[in-house]
Amino acid sequence: MSFILFRITENIGLMRRLWTTFERILRCTPQAGRIFLAGSLICLGQTQSQGADTQVSSSWYKGVVHAHANWGVPQLPTTSPDVVVRWYREHNYNFVSVTDLNYYTPTEGLKALFDAPGRFLVLPGIEPSKDPIQPGNKIVDTIGIGIKGPVDFPTGDTVATVLDSEAKAIRRAGGLPIAAHPNLTYALTAADLIASDKTSEPRFFEVWNTEPGMNNLGGGGKPSTEQIWDEVLSAGRVMYAVAVDDSHHFYEFVSSRQTGSPLSNPGRAWIQVRARELSVPSLLEAMNRGDFYASTGVVLSSYAATPVAIRIGLSDESRDLGWSLPGANPQLYRTEFIGKGGDVLKRDDSLHPEYEFKGNELYVRARITNSDGQVAWTQPFFPK
Ligand SMILES: [Zn+2]
Repeated sequence: MSFILFRITENIGLMRRLWTTFERILRCTPQAGRIFLAGSLICLGQTQSQGADTQVSSSWYKGVVHAHANWGVPQLPTTSPDVVVRWYREHNYNFVSVTDLNYYTPTEGLKALFDAPGRFLVLPGIEPSKDPIQPGNKIVDTIGIGIKGPVDFPTGDTVATVLDSEAKAIRRAGGLPIAAHPNLTYALTAADLIASDKTSEPRFFEVWNTEPGMNNLGGGGKPSTEQIWDEVLSAGRVMYAVAVDDSHHFYEFVSSRQTGSPLSNPGRAWIQVRARELSVPSLLEAMNRGDFYASTGVVLSSYAATPVAIRIGLSDESRDLGWSLPGANPQLYRTEFIGKGGDVLKRDDSLHPEYEFKGNELYVRARITNSDGQVAWTQPFFPK
């Protein structure tokens, strides 16, 4: 009897899994291409409603949009841009942007050396910055990626006007502006972000910057970058988030025996962009439609957002250094679906977290935390 029950239970489980797979195939087609990787189905292609090019299959590309060769910064090690680009290429990233302060790094030579069709791309970049703004010595910087050349020096004498001038100058240069490290000197408020870069949607900002002293989590009465994000979104402004290294140190790395000054090393935070191809226009197009996520280590097996539901796939493959036997030390997750005001609308601890829209949501975004404390942030989806 117990054997029969077991078989029935097993078969129900199997049927459920088959149905889930079939349902996912239905969701992936006909809009999207699809591939099978290591036995798991990955739904590819654009499923968000913003600017979808649904007939062409897409791939995920991993990259960093904020990295420094420190040109003209006396207190930091001068680094040749090829060292920066080489590090990311040799660590299996697909793209990187060298974003020096007020300096456009020419990319022709770098591209000749490092670009590899479909595998690696040097993305032109810059980080416009102005002297600290009073009161409070606020540092207001904006990353510009995909620019076609140098960017005008920022103007203005308030946080809001400098932020706006940086974004507009980057857009004039053909690039995509990303408000950098909002909590460095606690410079940016939600109101500043809402008011700036208004001529184009969406807005972009850094929800996570791994350089020491960026105060991502806030505290002491200052909001976290995620709280700032939800405040902007709750006002109805579409803003997408990136995670970045803001790397400055490529010659010296933190080690367990080192107690020196803080370093900003590469390899700690990035974005995964789902694009038709690995090219500047294609990456910017995907980012503009919100088809990417930010991560400090969590990698999604699948992601689909439609006006019906957000569905995510995760892998429980162990992350340890090889200590455990198969299945003994799975990676676990907590997924929180977050809506207006930063409210957690649903928690889902499964490997296939999903949120079905009820019809009254302004937006929903997901924060996925793994059992090692790493995080992925998906972009907000506005169902209407
Ligand atoms: Zn920077």
